[in-house]
Amino acid sequence: MSLDINKVRADFPILSRTIHGKPLVYLDNGATAQKPLRVLDALDKMHRELNANIHRGAHFLSEQSTEKYEDAREVIRGFINAESTREIVFTAGTTAAINLVAFSFGEKFVKAGDEVVVSEMEHHSNIVPWQLMCERKGATLKVLPFDDNGVLRIDLLPDLLTEKVRILAVTQASNSLGTINPIKEIVALAHSRNIPVLIDGAQGIHHIGVDVKDIDCDFYAFSGHKIYGPTGIGVLYGKEKWLEQLPPYQGGGDMIATVTFAKTTYADLPLKFEAGTANYIGAVGLAEAIRYMQSIGIDAIAEHEEELLKYATERLLSIPGLKIYGTAPHKVSLISFLLNNIHPYDTGMILDKLGIAVRTGTHCTEPVMQHFGISGTVRVSFGLYNTTEEIDRLYDALLRVKQMFE
Ligand code: PLP
Repeated sequence: MSLDINKVRADFPILSRTIHGKPLVYLDNGATAQKPLRVLDALDKMHRELNANIHRGAHFLSEQSTEKYEDAREVIRGFINAESTREIVFTAGTTAAINLVAFSFGEKFVKAGDEVVVSEMEHHSNIVPWQLMCERKGATLKVLPFDDNGVLRIDLLPDLLTEKVRILAVTQASNSLGTINPIKEIVALAHSRNIPVLIDGAQGIHHIGVDVKDIDCDFYAFSGHKIYGPTGIGVLYGKEKWLEQLPPYQGGGDMIATVTFAKTTYADLPLKFEAGTANYIGAVGLAEAIRYMQSIGIDAIAEHEEELLKYATERLLSIPGLKIYGTAPHKVSLISFLLNNIHPYDTGMILDKLGIAVRTGTHCTEPVMQHFGISGTVRVSFGLYNTTEEIDRLYDALLRVKQMFE
């Protein structure tokens, strides 16, 4: 079933606005996606009609609000096919989820001399938390490289996964190269050596979906704002057997069973990892974003985005002097490129004046830029509402950039 693009676009109020007098072409979805009316309405309704702190009040609104929050957890469980809602922890986003695991897993399982493996294409949020943990624990961070197409060197993984490795953290899809990684294969290899795996799903879940049972990953992290939901909410999925063993990350209300000055005991999963007032309104908005994507169909979204990627790749490559960074055979719908030696910021600035929103710079993946010996790229990233006409506008605008600088 293909997607009705005009109907989809009408769901996103921001898409009808103009920027510098030009109709907006929003191609910065990798950074954050726009929100459909359904999500905005769900957030508004929560604030207007149901707002009350969850899990605590003995009153109607608190009960309703709690029910909505726990319903949202169930929607997410179903979406990623987790076994139980005990495995779904709400966090502030992908970064917060990875920090949680890096801290708690590190406390429990990592000691001096151990190793942690990440890949060369990770976002800083799947590098720095592990570095902090390694520093604290006296462990070493090791790196699985990628080749010049932006494909992970899986052939090197067996040698990296020594008996000192405690955990492997890798992204489902690269936010600066677009590469989709063979995460099921990676997990199987790591598991054959009893090494658990965290998958950063921030750029994968909304483009290609995920089935955590099928992949068999131990942890999976993603953010609401990149999948048409609100900011400030995200999810950590963790297999129950791991979450049960990890110590709490932060202390406070809601994560406890009983508190005395002599000893505190902790709440059951998943609340053990949800200290303080949760972002219950964000969680409801995220669930609505998932329902929205499901109403369109994850397969239809993937098919549409694949067409956009193919069309945009062909059009961009027809511009003389344009070089694409990230030429893996399986990519999510984003393209990083440079136009001759024109600085990416200059390209981005001119595109902005023409109403086209793109991202420029390192995309929080400095090691990826170091691999190619460049300081940054221009990145266009597509969402379910983008069109081939918008790609034509990008193409025309890039020709103008070339004219201006050459
Ligand atoms: N991982 C990847 C691959 C990303 O693209 C991003 C955001 O761009 C993150 C992690 C961090 O997500 P957040 O800033 O929502 O925590």
